Amino acid sequence: MSNAKEENTFGYQLAINPEDDRTFGPCSCCGNMTRRVWGYVTQDDATIAAYFVEWTPGHEEKAANFDLIIGKWGEDAGRVSRKAVALDFRQLETGPAFRVINAADRPVGTNSLVGEALSREQIIGEPIAQTIFSICDTVFLQDQRIAALREQHS
Ligand SMILES: [Zn+2]
Repeated sequence: MSNAKEENTFGYQLAINPEDDRTFGPCSCCGNMTRRVWGYVTQDDATIAAYFVEWTPGHEEKAANFDLIIGKWGEDAGRVSRKAVALDFRQLETGPAFRVINAADRPVGTNSLVGEALSREQIIGEPIAQTIFSICDTVFLQDQRIAALREQHS
């Protein structure tokens, strides 16, 4: 997890714009309903990403999928300027952890707003990784709808 000081070093002033949410299921493993919430991440009032967080309350292990669509938004921006990014979130003994996974393995990878689904190899070690983790930290810390995911193991 990066902290606020680290984000400021990179000039990030990120905020969220929560949109809607959906409940669906039941989950095949436990019968609980799965929750999905979504919204937008803005930097200096410009939208830089859409985000979707999906998890099943009641699962013993606190885990969630964070799916992002990053890139340009607005009337002029075509899908070719937007990319799908997928992360696996887990609340570990050591604290919250995000892991980049292949976006092609997630529904967001074929979203009609997306021009390309990024693989883990296209992100890890590349400059884009810093942006992606800053976006995830912002969503994780600011979206009240996912407060349950922030609770640490006792
Ligand atoms: Zn389940």
